Amino acid sequence: MKIKQIFQRLFGLNKNKSAYPPSRMQADKSEMMQKMLTMLSNTREVELTCDEVFEMLDQFAELAARGEDVAQLMPLIQQHLDMCEDCREEYKVLEKIILNTA
Ligand SMILES: [Zn+2]
Repeated sequence: MKIKQIFQRLFGLNKNKSAYPPSRMQADKSEMMQKMLTMLSNTREVELTCDEVFEMLDQFAELAARGEDVAQLMPLIQQHLDMCEDCREEYKVLEKIILNTA
């Protein structure tokens, strides 16, 4: 599964921030978003494992702490957290750490 890489590419969580000039960025992002949505709707039955969620949980918690719409940005993580108590506990711990160190 390549979901993680897709998220990283889509939301600039990797290091190549300056690959595009800012004016093109928006268009590219929404184009990618379309592809992403198409892909997600084709693989709707795919769910993340706890390991995969755990790997991205710090990013998720940071985005959430910044007031980003994480349910939009990382729907699969949000979906997993809604279902999985273990990961939700882990998320709460991370959230606390992030808020305390902000
Ligand atoms: Zn889980």
